Amino acid sequence: MRFFTIPAALMLFYTFSYGNPECYLQAYPNLVLSADETTLVLKDGTKLPYHTTTPKVSWEDKINNTDLAGQLSQKYDAGGYESPPPYLFDPGRLRYQPFFQAIYGKDQKSIEANLVPVIWPTLKGSKKILFTRIDGVDKKLYAIGQEIAHLPKSERIWAEGADTYCFRVIQDTNRLSMHSFGIAIDLAPTKTQYWKDEAPSETAHIGYKNTMPLSIVRIFEKHGFIWGGRWYHYDTMHFEYRPELLTPSCNEKTNQ
Ligand SMILES: [Zn+2]
Repeated sequence: MRFFTIPAALMLFYTFSYGNPECYLQAYPNLVLSADETTLVLKDGTKLPYHTTTPKVSWEDKINNTDLAGQLSQKYDAGGYESPPPYLFDPGRLRYQPFFQAIYGKDQKSIEANLVPVIWPTLKGSKKILFTRIDGVDKKLYAIGQEIAHLPKSERIWAEGADTYCFRVIQDTNRLSMHSFGIAIDLAPTKTQYWKDEAPSETAHIGYKNTMPLSIVRIFEKHGFIWGGRWYHYDTMHFEYRPELLTPSCNEKTNQ
């Protein structure tokens, strides 16, 4: 019994130490009514548990079954320089799916009812891409595009081939991709890097690769988007709207 109790207690401490409910209040002031160590309440009355009951003991457990606290358990280094993330360090890749369904739509039909076209600049002009209008996320993406349009051509080429909404699960999993909620965008898909091209398993040792310029990354981060290039399981074309990882109350925490 002793051998099981101590690691479980440590995991509980880990979870309680790093999940700061204030992050959700600051990040989604129009949607979140309250959040504490027990419950997150949305303004539409939806209640979500802040912690689920079982402490996560393996990486596979965490990635497949995290909770609202676990989503914040790794600190996202917004504005940081490009450096290979430590082993299994994936800030923002741990996701509690019911939270995104409660905000952006519980199923494909309700998600699609909130998608709107956003004008995205290209080298030859512009194109329209679908994004959610919930919480004004479409307007944030538009602002990002306008800033990218002012970058030199050598950097703008990395914003070509923009791809956004697609209702699908993540490759080899049953977890919905953030592209399913209309809050994620891939850029330069044929010229960027994905960890699975290097290694098949979640716990494999992978060499980091990236070609996405930080000038583009920083524009996204300024508007509440995280970048998949800051993950050990790198996905350098990928950006998603996750303001709870970029709010001051989250960045003030001292965590891993
Ligand atoms: Zn993506």
